[in-house]
Amino acid sequence: MSETPQHLSAAREHAHRETVRARAEIDLGALRANVRALRARVAPQGARVMGVVKADAYGHGAVPCARAALDAGAAWLGTATPYEALALRAAGIDAPVLCWLWTPGGPWRAAVEADVDVTVSGLWALDEVREAARAAGRAARVQLKADTGLGRNGCLAADWPRLVGEALRAQADGLVRVTGLWSHFACADEPGHPSIAAQLAEFQDMLEYAEKAGVEPEVRHMANSPATLTLPEASFDLVRTGVAMYGISPGPELGTPADFGLRPVMRLSADVASVKQAPAGLGVSYGHHYVTDRETTLALVPLGYADGVPRHASGRGPVLLGGAVRTVAGRVAMDQFVVDLGTDTVEPGARAVLFGPGDDGEPTAEDWARAAGTIAYEIVTRVGGRVPRVYVDDEPE
Ligand SMILES: *Cc1c(COP(=O)(O)O)cnc(C)c1O
Repeated sequence: MSETPQHLSAAREHAHRETVRARAEIDLGALRANVRALRARVAPQGARVMGVVKADAYGHGAVPCARAALDAGAAWLGTATPYEALALRAAGIDAPVLCWLWTPGGPWRAAVEADVDVTVSGLWALDEVREAARAAGRAARVQLKADTGLGRNGCLAADWPRLVGEALRAQADGLVRVTGLWSHFACADEPGHPSIAAQLAEFQDMLEYAEKAGVEPEVRHMANSPATLTLPEASFDLVRTGVAMYGISPGPELGTPADFGLRPVMRLSADVASVKQAPAGLGVSYGHHYVTDRETTLALVPLGYADGVPRHASGRGPVLLGGAVRTVAGRVAMDQFVVDLGTDTVEPGARAVLFGPGDDGEPTAEDWARAAGTIAYEIVTRVGGRVPRVYVDDEPE
């Protein structure tokens, strides 16, 4: 008899049935190849790779992607929230993990006990870490984050001496071990932007201050994907790559994924739910923003904005269906949208591919980003929980 708890097997059965409608295939072989390409790129600078798996690995599934990244030699994993980091530990992943987005009252003690590196940008956080370390009876692994000009999270230069001093005091008390010093770029996707050199210089100054004060970091890091791909001098000890690991270029102006030796990992597709002959003059979908101008064939694709298909791509999003790339006709609805096939036709159940690596002529996430006026990061990250992730492994030999 099966030992699977009933609600779990029901969830699995549900996911299986949902793949009949639509699925996001995740090519873990491509992800591993991307990690190896990124490692090779930064190895000459003596840097290693942190695979960023926040936001459910940009919609690709945190645990399978974390495991694949580690298999391919990623040295660290990174998450935004502490709960994302703890979920990796709960899945049995014991590699170094850093998380960086904390709020007061966060799970500091659980993070300390799970050996997760926590990020501290200000004194309130250091106070909470100290208290958690005391309660846990062990030192917390703490990385200090510098705001070198992003103007978001992180400690500004004016407040840095105080934060470094307090962190070293906590270290002397055995409550903390300062394991890392790091920062984040504002405009790394715009090579030559004056803020890049200014942030690098500021980071060097803040590193120098902390190291002179007595911090001996295991890792110093600053680069995200765009910096990893365009700015070797920003590699330091570690690069924090997210989007590049998923085979997406951080910006179309920088180059295509192939230009960087990367391959898109996600392929989003759905099976056509209905095909019908329609007369000229038929208004299609909410608001009738599309009206057939001749007798034609309409196909219904069962994916909508609840599944992450951007409503902003109404009338613009590209879909490979019936051997050609077509355009969403009218509004994207919550669960579905329509494609006008003209004089072509397909059978119900035909596969509509919204995006993938592009090998078979299908659009890419970048194409959807352009259609929706956003970035490809948002396209993959928004793919909803109703779409099952199906893991495949097409690793090139
Ligand atoms: C999301 C994030 C990254 C990864 O950025 P990519 O451009 O996807 O590589 C790196 N560092 C921090 C602090 C982040 O929040």
